[in-house]
Amino acid sequence: MLKVFNTLSRRLEPFKPLEPPLVRMYVCGPTVYDHSHVGHARTWVAFDIIKKYLMIKGYFVIHVQNITDIDDKIINRAKEEGVSWKDIADKYTAEYFDLMAKLKVMPNINPRVTEHIDDIIEFIQDLIEKGYAYVTNSGVYFDVDKYPYYGQLSGIKDKKMWSQETFVKDKKNPYDFALWKCAKPGEPWWDSPWCKGRPGWHIECSTMSSKYLGKQFDIHGGARDLIFPHHENEIAQSEARFGVRPWVKYWLHSGYMTMKGEKMSKSLGNIVPLIELMKKYDVDVIRYWLSTSHYRSEMEFSWNALDEAKKALERIRITVDALLKEVEKGSPKGSLSDDEINKIYKAYSLRNSFHEAMDNDFNTPKAWAAVHGLLRLGNEALEGESYETALIVLQALREIDRVFEVLFPPQRTKDVESFIELLVEVRKELRKRKMWDLADMIRNELDKLGVALLDRSSETEWRFK
Ligand SMILES: [Zn+2]
Repeated sequence: MLKVFNTLSRRLEPFKPLEPPLVRMYVCGPTVYDHSHVGHARTWVAFDIIKKYLMIKGYFVIHVQNITDIDDKIINRAKEEGVSWKDIADKYTAEYFDLMAKLKVMPNINPRVTEHIDDIIEFIQDLIEKGYAYVTNSGVYFDVDKYPYYGQLSGIKDKKMWSQETFVKDKKNPYDFALWKCAKPGEPWWDSPWCKGRPGWHIECSTMSSKYLGKQFDIHGGARDLIFPHHENEIAQSEARFGVRPWVKYWLHSGYMTMKGEKMSKSLGNIVPLIELMKKYDVDVIRYWLSTSHYRSEMEFSWNALDEAKKALERIRITVDALLKEVEKGSPKGSLSDDEINKIYKAYSLRNSFHEAMDNDFNTPKAWAAVHGLLRLGNEALEGESYETALIVLQALREIDRVFEVLFPPQRTKDVESFIELLVEVRKELRKRKMWDLADMIRNELDKLGVALLDRSSETEWRFK
């Protein structure tokens, strides 16, 4: 039975979606004013792994992840650079999609705020009519005192701790938050019944999640620093409008990415842009490394950790590659030894260990321990040249890799392999003729394409990295 840690109840709960096998999941996406950094990637990969595990458990997941493409930060960045806010938003939205696709994170629906202004206005209008929001000269605010359950997600019950946003004298209480902000001169605006302006941040997520997932849904995710005020406010707005409770059944939050023990954040200036990281490491190394720590725990960034991850994934792939070759050349035996029969059931039990670990709030470090057990079994199969053991280990690894998506080297066709062999032959000839510079050029160019060469006296072996 799958159990998940629900921030709302602060405990592990059995996972029972509202309308199984459907799981509706919303994850807060980026505000597109700068490069996505490795801390963001951590959250997005974590929820992608959660999604893919739910899929192999037989659920069908609809995953929505928004893009905040209008915000104070975007407006400020545009002013700094002397370009339009839309140029900034478009540039970083494109980069975000590109990086996410490389990391194999592909939400089903990617709603953008500026394409949901009418829906947001309708949401706010409804809150005003129901008495939960009020109009002032500077904008529309949510009346927190009207909503009795405020503080339930964060556990912050002391009103003095609720103050948020900059002080605005129009507000009834310092802890009321903006639903609609009237535009100041020079700022972008949309027409509304109240003033020319733009939506507040929190209302966007309530509007877009309910538009695509309904008035109640199963999972809402995001990084831990969004619990207060962002998610607290989302709950208040949505429960106020829809009259449902709980609005979202399971609140899941990912832990911080830290560097030298401090939270990675733009404001502290200790971020590592993902685009920089991808120049140094293969995306699969990054995805693998991100999956090795439990999504709720803090994860410390270091270059050393990534170097280790690179080596570890290389070792994993060498075994997987050898298993694939063993199965390709191997032939089924007529009967198996007791040892082989034991190994086949051991593969099954390790596969179950993977599921047990993931069933316990998606415990990926323990799940990886099971994978390493399978790889050891795979190496034993290779030593004993056991086709049957190699085959069943691969069967288990393939199931698991529907979640991690890093174990198997990218698919290459036979044609590509033939071309590589041709180049290796040409290089061999060049070496015979002592044309070292050309031989080295071929080696370096192949290396860039992910093909490693290993010279052993007159022969050269090659493999995909
Ligand atoms: Zn959000």
